[in-house]
Amino acid sequence: MAKKYDMTIGGQTVATDDYIEVRNPANTDEVVGLAPVGNNSHVNQAISAAKDAFATWRKSSDEERVAAVQTIAKVCEDNAEELAELLTKEQGKPLNGNGSRFELGGCAGWAGYTSSIGLSEKVLEDSEESNIVMQRHPLGVVGSITPWNWPLMIAIWHIAPGVRTGNTVVIKPSPYTPLSTLRMVQLIAEALPPGVVNVVSGGDEIGAQLTDHDDINKIVFTGSLATGKKVMACAAKRVTPVTLELGGNDAGIVLPGTDVSQFAEGLFWGSMLNSGQTCGALKRLYVHDDQYDAACKAMVEIAQAIPMGDGMDENSILGPLQNKQQFDIVSNLVNDARDNGAKVLCGGDPQGGNNYFYPVTIVGDAVDGMRLVDEEQFGTALPIIRYSDVDDAIAAANGLDYGLDASVWGHDKDQLADVAGQLEAGTVLINKHIGIAPHVPFGGIKGSGLGVEFGQEGLEAYTYIKVINAAA
Ligand code: NAD
Repeated sequence: MAKKYDMTIGGQTVATDDYIEVRNPANTDEVVGLAPVGNNSHVNQAISAAKDAFATWRKSSDEERVAAVQTIAKVCEDNAEELAELLTKEQGKPLNGNGSRFELGGCAGWAGYTSSIGLSEKVLEDSEESNIVMQRHPLGVVGSITPWNWPLMIAIWHIAPGVRTGNTVVIKPSPYTPLSTLRMVQLIAEALPPGVVNVVSGGDEIGAQLTDHDDINKIVFTGSLATGKKVMACAAKRVTPVTLELGGNDAGIVLPGTDVSQFAEGLFWGSMLNSGQTCGALKRLYVHDDQYDAACKAMVEIAQAIPMGDGMDENSILGPLQNKQQFDIVSNLVNDARDNGAKVLCGGDPQGGNNYFYPVTIVGDAVDGMRLVDEEQFGTALPIIRYSDVDDAIAAANGLDYGLDASVWGHDKDQLADVAGQLEAGTVLINKHIGIAPHVPFGGIKGSGLGVEFGQEGLEAYTYIKVINAAA
C-alpha cells in the first residue's frame, strides 16, 4: 500500500475520505503515494485557520519574521534529500544535474535571501506643514496556486515573501505533483506558529474555491495563461490584488557572424532545463542564415550526448515529461511541424511504454506560423527558425502574445544592446537564457503575467501602502 500524505491546516494534519494515486512519470506502474482530495470545507477551514493566525502574525516583529523565513530555509536544507527523492518520483526530474537537489537548493537559497531583505518606512515629507510617512503593511491571507514543473521552488517563491511581510498563506499545489508540497509544508508548519502556512490539495476546483473566497486578501498564481485569465476574472469580483506568473514562448536571436560553437551549451540548456518544462525557457530559436547549419549541428550534437532516464538513476541528466497531457502536446506540435515541412533533426520518436519520456527533439526548417513555433510547447522540443534580416527576427520575436524572457546572442556589444532594447519581454538576456535570481525582479508582460516576484519589488507585492500624513 502506497504511503498516504495529508493536508496541513492550522498546524494540524488533516486526512480526508478520498485519496488519489500519484504515479511516477518515468514508470507509470509505480504509485509514488496517495494524495488527499480536499473539498470546499477544507478550503474554508484552511482560510479560517490562516485568518486566525493572521490576527497574531500581523503584529509580529521584524525579527520574528526574519527568523521564521530563516527557519523555512533551514527546513528545506535539513530535509533536502527526502524532499528531492519525493520530487523526483512524482515530477520526473532527475535527482542530479539541475534537477531535484538543485530545486531544493533553490528553495533554501530563495528563502534565505528573502529573509535578508525587508521593508522600511519612507519619510515623504518632513516640513513645517506636514510630516508624511509611507508604510507597508501585510495584506492578510495569501492564496497561493502552483504548477507542476518546479513545484517546491515555486511554493517557496510564494510562501517566503508572504511570511516575511507578515501575511499568512494557504497553498494549493498542482494535482499532478501534490506530494512533495504536502510534505514540505507539513515540515514548515511544524516549525512555525499554527496557521501561518497551510496546504490544501485536490483538483482544479480547489484553486477556483480559494480564489473565490471573501477572506483571501491576495492571490499569487503561477501557471498557464488560460487559468491565469480565470484567476484574474475571479479576483475582479472583490478587487483582490493578484500576481500572475504565466506562460512564455521565449525567443532567442543568434546575430549574424556569431561563433555558434561558443554559445551552443548555453542555448541548449536555456531551452532544455527541466526537460523544457520551464516557463522562462528558450522556446523558439532564430538563427541567421549564415550560421543556421552550424547552429543546428551543434544543438543536435549536444542533444544526442545528454543522458535521459529515470530520475532516481544518478546518471540521468534529463527526465520524462511530467504528465500525459504535456506529452501529447509536445508530440502533436512536433508531428504538426513535420507534416508542414519542418525537418526533425534528432528525436521526435518516443519509444512508448508506461512512461512520458520524449527524446530531445531539434526541429530545423521551422517557420513562424507553425504551431510548434507559435504555441508554448513546454517540453523537449526546440524549433530553429532561419532568418536573413535582424529586424525581421526582432519583429517575429515580439510578434506573439507572450513576453516573459527573450535573449540575443553574439559578439558585438553595441548590436547586442540595440537588439536587447527592442525585444519586448520582462527580462532580456544577453548571451544566456534563464537568469532568475532571488534579488532580481522577475515577471512577464502581455500574456506572460502581471506584476513581479523576487527582490524588493517582489516583496512589496505582498503589502499595501499606508500613508500617515500629520500636520506639523
Ligand atoms: P495550469 O494553469 O494548468 O495549473 C496551474 C495551477 O492552477 C494548478 O494548481 C491548477 O490546479 C490550478 N487551477 C486550475 N484551474 C484553476 C482555476 N479555475 N482557478 C484557480 N486555480 C486553478 O498550469 P500548469 O499546466 O500546472 O503549469 C504549466 C504552465 O505554467 C505553463 O504555461 C508555464 O509556462 C507556466 N509557468 C509559469 C511560470 C512563471 O513564473 N511565469 C512558472 C512556472 C510555470
